[in-house]
Amino acid sequence: MTPREVLALCRQNEIQAIDLRFMDFPGTQKHFTIPVKALTERSFEDGLTFDGSSIRGWQAINESDMLVVPQPETAMVDPFMKSTLAMTCNIQDPITRKDYARDPRNVARKAEAYMKSTGIADVANFGLEPEFFVFDDVRFDQNEHEGYYHIDSVEGEWNRGSAKADSNRGHRIRRREGYFPMPPGDTLQDLRTEIMLICQACGVEIGGQHHEVATGGQCEVDLQFGPLLQSADNLLRFKYIVKNVAAKVGKTATFMAKPLWNDNGSGLHMHFSLWKQGHTLFAGSGYGGLSELALHAMGGILKHTPALFAFCCPTTNSYKRTVPGFDAPVNQTYSFRNRSAAIRIPVHASSVETKRFEYRCPDPTCNPYLAMSAVLMAALDGIQNRIDPGLPLDKDIYDLSPEELADFAKVPSSLGEALLALRDDDGFLLRGDVFTEDVIDTWIWYKQTHEVNALRERPHPWEFAMYYDM
Ligand code: GLU
Ligand code: MG
Ligand code: MG
Repeated sequence: MTPREVLALCRQNEIQAIDLRFMDFPGTQKHFTIPVKALTERSFEDGLTFDGSSIRGWQAINESDMLVVPQPETAMVDPFMKSTLAMTCNIQDPITRKDYARDPRNVARKAEAYMKSTGIADVANFGLEPEFFVFDDVRFDQNEHEGYYHIDSVEGEWNRGSAKADSNRGHRIRRREGYFPMPPGDTLQDLRTEIMLICQACGVEIGGQHHEVATGGQCEVDLQFGPLLQSADNLLRFKYIVKNVAAKVGKTATFMAKPLWNDNGSGLHMHFSLWKQGHTLFAGSGYGGLSELALHAMGGILKHTPALFAFCCPTTNSYKRTVPGFDAPVNQTYSFRNRSAAIRIPVHASSVETKRFEYRCPDPTCNPYLAMSAVLMAALDGIQNRIDPGLPLDKDIYDLSPEELADFAKVPSSLGEALLALRDDDGFLLRGDVFTEDVIDTWIWYKQTHEVNALRERPHPWEFAMYYDM
């Protein structure tokens, strides 16, 4: 879509307001709104100013003015806001007119440009599988001690109010038994269909939707694969639609990686392939029907997995998901079919054009622009340096003895560990100026101080269970 076509779309739909959106550094969408008459063809060139100082991880107060530059190809008539057209924006410095290094979308654009400059591939396709939970109402309150969550049970159950906790459990999905149940057990069927239909009306193509493994409330809606930048833009749109569809019916959706103890968490599996001149580079005669190039890409991703965790599993809660026994990856391995490996080659990806592998580590709290860019950079490093992915693992990792497991490296066990891994292994991200040193330093600083330390300093509810009587 061109700027002129966006303005025509506004007239056709009697649009009154233009909503301008971007993603902050940690990965939450932000927006502000202008009247439709303030948007002209020039706005797409000149951008519009805003104060960047209050955006997490961005400019200091003394240099706070920034520009948003709306991107016409992202225009959509917003399904929830009154007479509003929404657009995703790039961020620029108003004086130099340079793209802002800490704008996650800019990192993704640079990653795609770097990939093309290597001559290896011209498109990196990602098919995203976001999982999330929908709960009946807001089940956590912050008490007067800021940051202390009042989850209704140290057992990890989200009780439906104490009065109801012992009531009839009929048609309730039990822990780890939520895969593909029929209604009335599955109470979220229509909600997921509503999400699917609104996504499609907003240009986000969907492969399908289903209830996921965890107890009542875990959902998955799969996005059709597409190029990196477009997939990240679509994921933003998707999360916005999910949260608003849930809110409309008095429910709440969360993409946090592990809301419930002792049940499956939520992943954001990435189905990844590289293409050149309209053809996949991943089909071949190697393991799982993959090409040598795909195996090297896999080698790069596995090698850099500890550092990738800093972007792909970027919250303290992420590490409560990647524990044995819950369909989440725990070892740096790959496998044909096996869901307990970090990388899986899906069995149905047998036709040449759908050949891909699934990176299972990321979770939906990641900033998709940064996480997908980092995965792409690791794959390119693997191809450039012909990194051998090692031997596949075709047994269920969870059933192996400690001796058998010793051969396989473990994924990081905490956000702090992943940040240290990133500190030690950032060279592959700095190529082509894709992730700058400033971006890496700011990421590590932000995550360490605002999340790792912030959690570490707070007494945890389970500590009361373990230690109160000591
Ligand atoms: N929920 C699982 C995870 O945490 C994945 C389940 C699946 O294989 O779809 O990654
Ligand atoms: Mg799933
Ligand atoms: Mg999957």
